[in-house]
Amino acid sequence: MKTTPSLFEVKDVDRQFYAKRLAAFLPERIIDIHTHVWRAEDQPPEPPVQDSRLVSWPARVAAVNPIEDLMETYRLMLPGKTVTPLIFSGLPQGGNLPRINAYVARCARTHHVPALIFSDPSWSAEELERRVKAGGFLGAKSYLALAPSYIPGKEIRITDFFPPHQLEVHDRNGWIVMLHIPRDGRLKDPVNLAQLVDIDKAYRRLKLIVAHVGRAYCDEDAGNAFDVLSATRRLVFDFCANTNAHIFEMALRTVGPRRLLFGTDLPITRMRMCRITHDGHYVNRVPRGLYGDVSGDKNMEEVSGPEADRLTFFMYEEIDAFRRAAERLKLTRRDVANVFAGNAARIIRAAGGR
Ligand SMILES: [Zn+2]
Repeated sequence: MKTTPSLFEVKDVDRQFYAKRLAAFLPERIIDIHTHVWRAEDQPPEPPVQDSRLVSWPARVAAVNPIEDLMETYRLMLPGKTVTPLIFSGLPQGGNLPRINAYVARCARTHHVPALIFSDPSWSAEELERRVKAGGFLGAKSYLALAPSYIPGKEIRITDFFPPHQLEVHDRNGWIVMLHIPRDGRLKDPVNLAQLVDIDKAYRRLKLIVAHVGRAYCDEDAGNAFDVLSATRRLVFDFCANTNAHIFEMALRTVGPRRLLFGTDLPITRMRMCRITHDGHYVNRVPRGLYGDVSGDKNMEEVSGPEADRLTFFMYEEIDAFRRAAERLKLTRRDVANVFAGNAARIIRAAGGR
């Protein structure tokens, strides 16, 4: 008998949700294109001052996510499926970038999974290329927090953390670039859209993955984005940590099922919640008390009683929203298998992985 406590609780409501809505919809083999792994020992001892350019609620779900926890999460949440993750670190803090990248490289080797480096925009082209190759990575993830600190949060552009000299390296090698777009306007922001279109035109070999469907969590975040993006040829989109079926439907109509990728953004989607939107903002409804004091967080709302008892995992809500979009558009089994594995396999192979 296993005596160690479970990593997190799986309840009847979860098992029923999975069995009724997801198990038969999902293919047997899955590639999860967007996951974060990190260890406690690589984190700074003092919690760093929160960067006011970021949201704070994700830190409440998991303090750490070593690769063993990630694999255990799949066993608990996607029973009967074989899942291969693309891994990268969490946000670097307190000068730990070399250590968190080294940990990801080691996990990739020992678990035979593909991985991305967390890149720093201050690296030269040579330094980026050397570090990616030395670690056996297939490209890079970076984040707006790595943009030079003199740039106000609202003004950060994609090329402030993925500078052109680095995009050229990725392009030359056919590597993957995992992008969480900046700016309050999210997907519809005209600067984001202009840079996405530019990158799509200028770089023919790199694979730019626009994470979370460009952070379009609310219908209002799309604006005219899908009209603009209909001119692109190569950009791909993951829909991790997004539960908006209408946005998924628009993305599918615009770029088709070969340019959408399943990802989870684990460990965040272990969260028990459902997301609602009002007036163009998203709110995560969570069981009262489960994630500490969230009273100061405009993206969180607590519920109790039968409403709380019905809540299941963020990841299940995400997959179920995609299922509804897929059914509305009458995607075939093959389309769904491509979104959950085939498209990612193609990109990973093209980047030099297996
Ligand atoms: Zn992420």
